[in-house]
Amino acid sequence: MGKLDSKIAVVTGAAKGIGAAIASRLFEDGVEALAVLDLDLEQAEATAKALDPSGEKVIAMKCDVSNRDEVNSVFGKIIEKFGRVDILINNAGITKDAMFHKMNVEDWNKVINVNLNSMFYTCQAVAGSMRGRNYGKIVNISSNAAWGNAGQANYSASKGGVLSFTRTLAKEFGPKNITVNSIAPSLIDTDMIKTIPEELMSMALMLNPMRRVGQVSEVASVVSFLASDDSSYVTGECIQVNGGFLIV
Ligand code: NAD
Repeated sequence: MGKLDSKIAVVTGAAKGIGAAIASRLFEDGVEALAVLDLDLEQAEATAKALDPSGEKVIAMKCDVSNRDEVNSVFGKIIEKFGRVDILINNAGITKDAMFHKMNVEDWNKVINVNLNSMFYTCQAVAGSMRGRNYGKIVNISSNAAWGNAGQANYSASKGGVLSFTRTLAKEFGPKNITVNSIAPSLIDTDMIKTIPEELMSMALMLNPMRRVGQVSEVASVVSFLASDDSSYVTGECIQVNGGFLIV
């Protein structure tokens, strides 16, 4: 018996990085079925197959979370196939960094669309299913950058938006026994941090009490807690998974 027995879960941006680790952890926790969504279908299929070669419990689907029609269509198919969504992990995210005076409007819009507008689409796509059954767990991946980060005005704004969106949904969905929480990671060892210049990385690690980057499994374990009934009276929270980086 796993702690997520009989739960149907969806993870966005789950082909690799933190999302793939979350998918893997939810699978280990015993979910009844899991949908691995990503822009990159080939990689999503490889991730799903590595977990469940039979393809009975874990399915991969292409889904650009910034495209509302695609989100509605994909979530419609998931609900048709499995009957419901119990757990939604909004993980897909991108960066397009530049100092603000050089940031172009395309990169501003792209980041806001993928990181924030997507959550409007996915949460609306599952709201009916969750509200109708008085049960749901939503976990939104934010970032330390929500507190502001030079060179990331678009990303910081999107991730700050995720925090207030999360708190608002928690208030609206609480009466329906749906918890909505967020996680703010920092410096987790994925492709996303590979572009950080070495000098900046050494500085960031100096400011980090734990003096190391985090592992994807260290984010996935916190998601697992928030996706399970171990956190049944926790909602509207943001848990920082950052080695103490923001302690002042
Ligand atoms: P990653 O780049 O390794 O993986 C991101 C995944 O999202 C990829 O598989 C990509 O194909 C997918 N994706 C991108 N755009 C998409 C879209 N429009 N629709 C569907 N899927 C899409 O990144 P990661 O480090 O694993 O980041 C995962 C989440 O964690 C992101 O929201 C990111 O902002 C957040 N985060 C990461 C860190 C870090 O240090 N790595 C820190 C704070 C927050």
